[in-house]
Amino acid sequence: MKLVMQHPSRSALTLAVSAILATSMLASCAKTEETAETETVEVDTPSDDVVEEANIDTPAEQVAEATDADPFATAYDTVTVYSSRNEQLIQPLLDQFTATTGTPVELITDKEGPLMERMKAEGANSPADMFLTVDAGNLWQAGEQGLLQPLGSSLVNNNVPAKYRSADDLWTGLSLRARTIFYDPNDVSPSDLSTYADLADPKWKGKLCLRTSKKVYNQSLVSSMIEHYGAEKTEEIVKGWVANLAAPVFSNDTKMLEAIASGQCDVGIANSYYYGRILEENPDFSVKIFWANQGEGAEATGTHVNVSGAGIVKTSDNVAGARQLIEWLSSEQAQEEYASGDKEYPVKEGVDESVMLRSWGPFKQDDINVTVFGQRQAEATQLMDRAGYE
Ligand code: FE
Repeated sequence: MKLVMQHPSRSALTLAVSAILATSMLASCAKTEETAETETVEVDTPSDDVVEEANIDTPAEQVAEATDADPFATAYDTVTVYSSRNEQLIQPLLDQFTATTGTPVELITDKEGPLMERMKAEGANSPADMFLTVDAGNLWQAGEQGLLQPLGSSLVNNNVPAKYRSADDLWTGLSLRARTIFYDPNDVSPSDLSTYADLADPKWKGKLCLRTSKKVYNQSLVSSMIEHYGAEKTEEIVKGWVANLAAPVFSNDTKMLEAIASGQCDVGIANSYYYGRILEENPDFSVKIFWANQGEGAEATGTHVNVSGAGIVKTSDNVAGARQLIEWLSSEQAQEEYASGDKEYPVKEGVDESVMLRSWGPFKQDDINVTVFGQRQAEATQLMDRAGYE
C-alpha cells in the first residue's frame, strides 16, 4: 500500500468524500460478492469473493488522486451503463466513481447478446451511454454492429497498452484474463507441457478436456492461433485436440477444471480467473496452472490474454460522462480493485496484481492486438466446425 501525504489545506468537501469512500469500501468489504460473469453459454457456480484487504487503497490516496487529477473534478449527468459483468463486482466501483467525481451512474445488467439487441432496438432513443462486457470478440461485435463511437481519450491511451485497445478506438480493455493450460499434477509434470499446439500431439490421446467451441473465449484463442500460424496449421492443431479429447466438450471452464481435479482428464484450457475463484473457495484444489507458449522458438508466442472492456455507445447523449467513467476505470485509482475483484490482471502497467495472481508467477503475454480476436472470429468459428470441435 502506497503512502500519500494529505495536503494540509484539505477542504471540508474532501473530508466528506473521504467519509463516503470509507463507508462504501467497508460495505464492499463486508459484502459477499458473487463474481460469476453473465455468460451466454454457461452458468458458473457463484463463488464468494471478498476483495483482498491488501489491494484496497486508503481513502486518503484515492482522494489525493481525485483532487489532483483534472478529468475527475467535473460532475456530469447520469451515465447509463449497459453491462454484462456481474453487478456485485461493478456496483462498488461505480459508487466510488460517483463519490470521486459527482457523476451519477445507472447500471443495467444483462447478457451481452440481449444488451446489444436492446441497443439496436432502442436506436437513437437508447438510454445507454456505455457498454461494458468481457472478451475482445464481444466488444468487436458491438463495434461491428455500429453500436459504439470512438473513445477519443488520451488518458485511456496512456493508461492502456495499444494491444488491449480497439484498432479503431471504439473500445478499450479494462482488465486482463489469461486463457492457458491447467493440469493434474498426479499424472502430468510441467516438463511434459509447452504450447496449445502441443496438446494436439497423440501423446495426449484420451487425456485432454476442452470447453465448447461455441464460447467466445475459444473462438478468440483460435483466432489468435490463425494469426500466428495460419489457418491450415491451426486446423491441424484443432483436429488434434478433438482426437485427444477424454470427454465431450464442457459447457464451462469451471466444470472442465473440476474434471481435471477428479481425474477424468489430465490437461485442459481455461481462463485464469475461474481457477482463482475455485482456489479461493478451496485452497487445496489439486489442479495446477501452466503458462502456455513460453520459452524460445516459433511457438513461443506468449500466453493468450484477453480483456474485459468498455466503449461509448454511439447514440449516447452523455459522451463526456461515459468517457469520464471509462477513463476512471482505467486509472490507477480503480485498476487494482477492478482487476482483483474477479481474480483478473490490471490492464494498466505498474498496478499491483492480487496476492493470489502473484503466486502464479510472471509470464510472457501474447503480443498481438486483441482486435484480431474479433476480426478472425468468423474464420475461427468455421475452422473449428470443419475440425469437428463442437
Ligand atoms: Fe468468463
